[in-house]
Amino acid sequence: LSDRRSPRRLVLAVEDDADIARALGVLLERNDFEVLLASDGRDGLRLFHQCRPQLVILDVGLPEMDGWTLLERVRELSDAPVLMLTARDGETDKVRGLRAGADDYLTKPFGNAELVARVEALLRRAPDGAIRGGVPGTAVAEAGTERLGGSQGSGRGGQLRIGAVRIDPEAHIVEVDGREVDLTPTEYRLLQALARHPGQVLSNEQLLRLAWQDPTATGPDRVKFTVLRLRRKLGWAEAGASPLETVRGFGYRLRT
Ligand code: CA
Repeated sequence: LSDRRSPRRLVLAVEDDADIARALGVLLERNDFEVLLASDGRDGLRLFHQCRPQLVILDVGLPEMDGWTLLERVRELSDAPVLMLTARDGETDKVRGLRAGADDYLTKPFGNAELVARVEALLRRAPDGAIRGGVPGTAVAEAGTERLGGSQGSGRGGQLRIGAVRIDPEAHIVEVDGREVDLTPTEYRLLQALARHPGQVLSNEQLLRLAWQDPTATGPDRVKFTVLRLRRKLGWAEAGASPLETVRGFGYRLRT
């Protein structure tokens, strides 16, 4: 499926352990990916600029520029999915990665099949690596347009306003006080999923299905950290005043 959407499946792997890097290269090429390998963060950033890969696999501990800095730089430039590779006991790394905008993580040592499955799932969810200016009508956006228009009954076709936040599902644009906000595809889909069900509590499982479009996805952490980033970007970070409410032990609700 992803072959048809993006014929060039270029993956950048930034990993300083030569054995792991070589294994990644062989594995991904065997699964029809083109692979770029970088052995330090600086080289990784240079290759990212030059080649604009569809996905980045990023080791946390890297010479020259560490994985965190590189993740930050990549996120300034692009919404391309990032899969972090963390150490076995790296619970804090996992959390930090998701908080900083990584889309998924794998703990070393990882299984080959698992790595390929994660990469494929990330590419399925972000076929063009970017939301704005491009992906016309995903299923979520189209359904959202209809629903938002109906429930609001005002404004230009299908737009939704929540306080200072305006969502334009047709143009895939989100603005705060008239200023466009950069959301990753996952953040955008999460906002859409919640906005389609105003006032309704959605569970972590429902949100994983709706926003990640990955029935095999697990882990409330992924939802939690995407919610945190979304709140920060939309100016909803202040506890108690956020329209995006946490319903403890269950999920989230968007008050409109
Ligand atoms: Ca390393």
